[in-house]
Amino acid sequence: MLLILTLACTTSGDVPDTAITDSASDGLRTLDNCAASFAADVPAFYTTYFRCVDVSMDGDEVVIGTNDLPPHPSSYYPESDPNWEAWDDRGGEYTQNPNSIASQAFVLRIPAAPVAKGLTITDALVDLTMMTSDEEYPAGTIGVALDGVSLYNATAAPGDDIRDEQYGFDVWEAHPSPDSAYHHHSPNPAGLAVLVAAGFATTTAPGAAEVELFGIICDGTVVLGCTELDGTEVVSADLDAQGGHLGDLRDADGTTHFAGRYHTHMCTAIDEDAFTPEIQYYGSCEVAGVGP
Ligand SMILES: [Zn+2]
Ligand SMILES: [Zn+2]
Repeated sequence: MLLILTLACTTSGDVPDTAITDSASDGLRTLDNCAASFAADVPAFYTTYFRCVDVSMDGDEVVIGTNDLPPHPSSYYPESDPNWEAWDDRGGEYTQNPNSIASQAFVLRIPAAPVAKGLTITDALVDLTMMTSDEEYPAGTIGVALDGVSLYNATAAPGDDIRDEQYGFDVWEAHPSPDSAYHHHSPNPAGLAVLVAAGFATTTAPGAAEVELFGIICDGTVVLGCTELDGTEVVSADLDAQGGHLGDLRDADGTTHFAGRYHTHMCTAIDEDAFTPEIQYYGSCEVAGVGP
């Protein structure tokens, strides 16, 4: 029998001014009240950094379940939802897309010890365009953010440009797909809000936080921001074409969560095309519950 632990959450600090931290009575979904569970044998990386997800082990796979509902307000919630807020067009530059957020049932199975495919990830592979390489991640949900929201890869359909999509993002740098799955492609304050709540950072501004971690991808690739997990500076000369390299993911307390793990850095100060990874470094990516 698995012992299920319920994560107790606290929230404080410099979240965007749209965040309301404790309003469970009116049905608002927050980092404080979103449901989460972590089986006793789940690695500390998940129990330490993730909220609003159910995590368990199945053999050598970490199984993460999420409903993909963001624990913060968004204009992409239906207007009847307690988490709905008015669209902010940020000086007229941003236009809301016609989609809206709905609950999903995503399950990711992430290998505890992923096996590298042996790729060297070059500029030729990272073209931000869908279906140009067999080594790309699939379309749709490929990873999970620290707050349970989906991570998509950084490609657009041929003829479209992922860089233009950002003008449809809400103030949390995310938007819903036509099948109502809310997701990120880029650095965002939502992941950093979890780190603020957990006491690892004091700001949700990407590029300025003491530690920047955004989530994990189906194959075991970890997505960080402008710092390593212990808050130290990224040695950018090491990075491949999608901001990735191999390294130990060690926290500020000296705990090594992953040794020699491929991870990417989404950091506009290093590369202005700071997106989620496009090319799958490790061999296995299993995601169920993905919409059409
Ligand atoms: Zn998208
Ligand atoms: Zn690194």
